[in-house]
Amino acid sequence: MDLSDIGNDIDHVLLTEEQIGARLDEMAAQIDADYAGKDLLLVGVLKGAVMVMADLSRRLHTAATMDWMAVSSYGSGTKSSGVVRILKDLDTDLTDRHVLIVEDIVDSGLTLSWLLSNLRSRGPASVEIAAAMRKPDAVKVDIDVRYVGFDIPNEFVVGYGLDYAEKYRNLPFVGTLAPHVYER
Ligand code: 5GP
Ligand code: MG
Ligand code: MG
Repeated sequence: MDLSDIGNDIDHVLLTEEQIGARLDEMAAQIDADYAGKDLLLVGVLKGAVMVMADLSRRLHTAATMDWMAVSSYGSGTKSSGVVRILKDLDTDLTDRHVLIVEDIVDSGLTLSWLLSNLRSRGPASVEIAAAMRKPDAVKVDIDVRYVGFDIPNEFVVGYGLDYAEKYRNLPFVGTLAPHVYER
């Protein structure tokens, strides 16, 4: 299927490629300032964070190393439960490292909350979070997302790394799905 056919599946575009890029410039500048002189380790959460990791890390002037984790949260359908299983762990020893978790989106925050305590138990110098997007429910859990790209409405979004049934991840923008997609 051609990418342009997917246009019919998108109800409306929430964030354009240009908007995302401009915001990532600002986030990268902040991260550069905060981690000046420090040895930074970026930890991406597969698979959704692939786009934001690639685009954010390339905007940094700070030398950073990169590692990846894959986790699966047990839950009913689209809601996460906070019970998390590690599918792929880090290759890197976190002892005394400055860790920045790079995430696509924070919704309930349950996955990140679990990940934070897991990574903090490994003796890092610091652990912070950068997320491309945050939804309103994220305020219900007590996690401090240091760098937030965009606060978005409580809608299910796809694109820019985010999927519906593994589709739409390679759209360069973020949009909502048309109802007919769920119905078929
Ligand atoms: P949370 O634990 O914060 O509820 O969400 C964890 C994960 O659920 C996110 O990292 C993301 O992969 C997925 N997720 C949350 N909201 C959305 C959404 O609107 N669209 C898509 N495609 N995935 C989402
Ligand atoms: Mg994610
Ligand atoms: Mg998904």
